[in-house]
Parts: sequence; C-alpha cells; structure tokens
Amino acid sequence: MSREHDQTEPVLRIEELSVTFFVRQSLFRTRPVHAVSGVSLVLSLGETVAVVGESGSGKTTLGRATLHLAPISAGRVIFEGTDIGELEGKELMSFRQRAQVIFQDPFSSLSPYMRVGELVAEPLAIHGPKDREEQHQRVLAALEQVKLSPAEEFVEQYPHTLSGGQRQRVSIARAMVLDPDYLVADEPVSMIDASSRAEILYLLAELRAQGELTFLYITHDLASARHFADRIAVMYAGRIVELAPSAQLVDEPRHPYTKALLAAVPEPDPANRLHERPVVGGEPPDAADLPAGCAFAPRCPAAISGVCEVQVPPLIQLDDGHEVACHLYPAGDSIGDSTGEPASESVSSAAATKGSSASG
Ligand code: SF4
Repeated sequence: MSREHDQTEPVLRIEELSVTFFVRQSLFRTRPVHAVSGVSLVLSLGETVAVVGESGSGKTTLGRATLHLAPISAGRVIFEGTDIGELEGKELMSFRQRAQVIFQDPFSSLSPYMRVGELVAEPLAIHGPKDREEQHQRVLAALEQVKLSPAEEFVEQYPHTLSGGQRQRVSIARAMVLDPDYLVADEPVSMIDASSRAEILYLLAELRAQGELTFLYITHDLASARHFADRIAVMYAGRIVELAPSAQLVDEPRHPYTKALLAAVPEPDPANRLHERPVVGGEPPDAADLPAGCAFAPRCPAAISGVCEVQVPPLIQLDDGHEVACHLYPAGDSIGDSTGEPASESVSSAAATKGSSASG
C-alpha cells in the first residue's frame, strides 16, 4: 500500500458495515449477535472522529473492524482506496504498519516480563527496520515523543515500576513507533487515574497536531469527545444514531439517547449539584435479541407508539448537516421535517407526555 495521501480522498470510508458474531447456545445451536449493523462513516485526512456509546453499543467492535481485527459480515472498510477485507500477505502487513491501536487497559496490554525498550521495539521487529541500532534509535525517539524522558532511563524499566499514566504512554509509544497514518484509541484514559487522564488526552492531541494522523477515538465519555474530536458519532445497539460536529452535537443534541447521555454527565458546578437531572432508566438491549423497530424505544421517553417499535429509523441528514436516526426527525413526511426540530406538535406533545410519565 502506498504512503502517498490523496488529499481529496477520505483516509477511511466505512460503507454499510455489519459485524455479526455467532455464540454457542447449546451443543448444536448458535445464535447471532449483531454487534454492528449497517454503519457508514467517512474519516478525512487528519480528522478525529469520536465514537461514543455505552458498553455493548458496538463501538469497540466497529474500531476493531476498521483495523481488520474483527470479521466483517457485510459492507466494506476502504482504507485509502483499498478494501481492507481483500488484503493479504505483504499488503496486509503494510496496512498493519499504517493502522495502529491503543488499547484501553495499559495494565494487561503490556507484558510484565518485557522491558519498556523491548515492548516498544516489538512492532518494529515485525514491521520495521531490521538493523538493531536503527530500531534502538526509533524506540528512543518514540519514548521521547510520548514524554517518557530521558528515554534511556525508561528503556530498562519493567511495566510494574511505572504509573498507570506512564504505562499508557508506553502503549502509545508502541503504536507511534511505526509512524502510523490511522490510529484507533479505544477508551485510552478510562483505566488510568484522573490526574493522568488530561495529560494523556493532551499528549494524543499533540501527536495528532504533529502530523496527518487520522483518529478514531472510542469512548463512553461525551465530555472528552467534545474537546478531543472534530465530529462525534453516537452509537446505540450497533448503529450510529447521531453524527455531527462535536460542539454542535453536545450543544444541540437531537436524538433522545444523546440527550440521555448528556444528562448523565456529572455537573461540574457545585452550586447545581442538587438539580434533578432526567436520566433515562433501563439497560441497553441484548445484541442477540434486539427489539423490532428502534432499539432505543423501550427506554425512550419520546417514543411514538405504533411507529418506533415497528420501524427502524434511518440515519437522515438535517438541514444543518446534523445526522440523526429517529422518527422524531423524519425526512419530509407528515410527522416532521428536516429542519432539526420535531415539527409535528402531536408528536412533540405525545413525547412530552410520555417523558413526564417516564420520569415520574
Ligand atoms: Fe427511537 Fe422513537 Fe425514541 Fe426516536 S423517538 S429514539 S425513533 S424510540
């Protein structure tokens, strides 16, 4: 695969991607688990898109599928014009060099028996230069890049001697040592202490600014997504339910699920700590037993009876570019319009009625 970037082409194009796993139910029976269903998403060169959702929403599986690490059941992932599902041999090796991942858990993703220098050199041994001195210099440069300095002191240490934040920096150095073009960061700060989280996010933002790195940032935290990503895609039960520029999505959420996620974000102002917040109850559905229609309908305070539990809402684009999959915003029919507001008073009032009864 070529390292030349066509500036007019997206780096990554996800087209109607579905990932279905089959889990064993009994000796002779398996059942399908629809982890990702019909997701389409485009990432431009240097862009960061955050994928936000609860556990089980399919966001990690989506990230893994874009790295050729999860089986694609339907649809395609196009990386710089090439369908990654068709890659094998040297082409697949080349893709693996250019597309890297930072895992969630810096405690289990690093072997406790290897020194930091060996851990960072490991990807180079597979994909990089064979010259040992060149490998060593690249390891030192990668450690300096992630602010583990002086690098010469860190190469000899074992992971257990490092803090959680330092371990995650080693994970980032492992990903960056191959100078990737595309990086998936899967909940990179969720398992480290609060004081290191901001530092790691600043570091990732710095690395992004240094080059033309394209990022898929997977998180359950809308607040960090707001500050770190250019756009946010909200996933629920394997589908994208809302997609918009980060500030627009957080300041003007449209989908009831996004509103519920935002309502659950802790209130930073102590003066507002006693304010009642409308948090939606219930659990996400079982991916092996999804309800018909909108998967959020059983929890949705605005569900439209007779519609939402029957039809899956398509992802449509509103006039301001915001994309949303919800029957409150149908494209140009009698229930509403595409201006970004649920146009029908009957729908709005029905939603309000149900919302108040749900919260009561
Ligand atoms: Fe789903 Fe209907 Fe609620 Fe929209 S209003 S989120 S379509 S249940």
